[in-house]
Amino acid sequence: MEKIYNYIDGRTVAPVNGNELDNVDPATGAVYSQLPDSDAEDLAMAVAAAESARENWAQAPAEERARILNRLADLVDDNADDLALAECVDTGKPLHVAARLDIPRVAANLRFYASAATQFFSESHAMGTSAINYTLREPLGTVGCISPWNLPLYLLTWKIAPALAAGNCVIAKPSEVTPMTAYLFSRLLNQAGVPKGVLNVLHGRGNRIGRLIVDHPGISAISFTGGTATGADIAARTAGMFKKLSLELGGKNPTIVFADADQEKALDGALRAAFSNQGQICLCGSRLLVERSIYEDFRDRFVERARALIVGDPLEPGTDQGAVVSAAHFDKVMAAIGRARNEGGQTLCGGESVKPEGRCANGWFIRPTVIEGLDASCKTNQEEIFGPVVSIMPFDDEDDAVAAANSTRYGLAASLWSQDVSRCHRVAAALQSGLVWVNCWMLRDLRTPMGGFKHSGVGREGGFETLRFFTEAKNVCISI
Ligand code: NDP
Repeated sequence: MEKIYNYIDGRTVAPVNGNELDNVDPATGAVYSQLPDSDAEDLAMAVAAAESARENWAQAPAEERARILNRLADLVDDNADDLALAECVDTGKPLHVAARLDIPRVAANLRFYASAATQFFSESHAMGTSAINYTLREPLGTVGCISPWNLPLYLLTWKIAPALAAGNCVIAKPSEVTPMTAYLFSRLLNQAGVPKGVLNVLHGRGNRIGRLIVDHPGISAISFTGGTATGADIAARTAGMFKKLSLELGGKNPTIVFADADQEKALDGALRAAFSNQGQICLCGSRLLVERSIYEDFRDRFVERARALIVGDPLEPGTDQGAVVSAAHFDKVMAAIGRARNEGGQTLCGGESVKPEGRCANGWFIRPTVIEGLDASCKTNQEEIFGPVVSIMPFDDEDDAVAAANSTRYGLAASLWSQDVSRCHRVAAALQSGLVWVNCWMLRDLRTPMGGFKHSGVGREGGFETLRFFTEAKNVCISI
């Protein structure tokens, strides 16, 4: 059985307590590796290592940090096949998706922040002839990066790369559900020339090592991506400690299709938004709002396409939908489908588990599910399900669409489809959402800040915004 180790002070090490957790392949239901159930002693070692490395790393020229991040990106490329396979086995997503999207984005994150490190600038403001203000930006010291299971290495490196680029040392905690890619990645760090102690990776349970990282007084910022309830726990626990927080949380994102949309493109976009990564992306469109005059026709064509998606073995190149990430998550999504039925929803397709033949017979697969007949206020349309489940609803006009779209406590992302340019601008401005896609979905420019309104989070990640988050700003005012 393959073993996963922590990475502390430049070495792969077992947890001090010797305890391990099982790592399960969700496509087969089989335990395929074991990971550390890390605890306070492991964290103490990691924080001490970071503390020793901190000064040198903070003082290293930006070009040196950039060179190391670029070298790491090259090593990710060199090991892309192994990383994609590990991502596929850990998450249950199709291998071709991991290979085409997730792992290339890991390398892109590293390269983006390598380059950003050398372009980062600080501001200066002249007060006429009386004074000049300028801003010094200093690394925070040691920071915690906690990431979820849906895009494991992609989201972890989206935090690690800017934290390192800005000159911080990092304690990273990947999700216990999908630890393998972070472990393989940590084995590349020495080769890339990352000085020991600069990046430490601790595996284990969120409510144990995750909480210990959040509570540790030697860690001055937490960059977290995950569920809204966990984000609330982190905010509450750190309230009196005045740590810097970046919280990227859940969503209940609307896809809005107006009658004047290019129907083919809208169908493709809505389908991808609903079911990519088995619906397990924070940006997925789980509420499909369609203008009443085209509703029935659009609904029927959407359902036809959802039915045609091939659910099965993630290793097969023809698979569109792999497994959901775990047994617990499978139960959660199936319970949400049951609740939708209890609320009066009709299942237009899916709604049941799939048992593929062969090696995946014991895996956790759910057929893409479309539910109709629920109003915007019911739990199905209010709570994040985070699975291959979309609720479809008609709307009457623009105001009606915006009201329904804005009716949840979330505000992460929205996509709208229309060929009326003025309407696109109006609706984009009216949506309470950190990100609005117009006639597209999941297009991402890494320079743009991303994050949520309302309960979808606090702070923004992307571009220089994240480098600013990972630094302390000091204003120097010089009288002249
Ligand atoms: P969780 O909030 O359960 O977990 C996220 C991470 O936090 C994991 O590493 C987890 O560890 C850890 N964790 C859990 N509890 C605590 C705690 N009390 N203190 C510190 N760390 C903790 O989310 P999921 O992993 O289930 O991820 C899915 C969620 O992430 C969805 O809600 C999704 O919308 C959101 N998400 C948001 C994104 C955004 O950019 N806004 C992007 C992607 C996902 P462990 O897994 O080991 O328990």
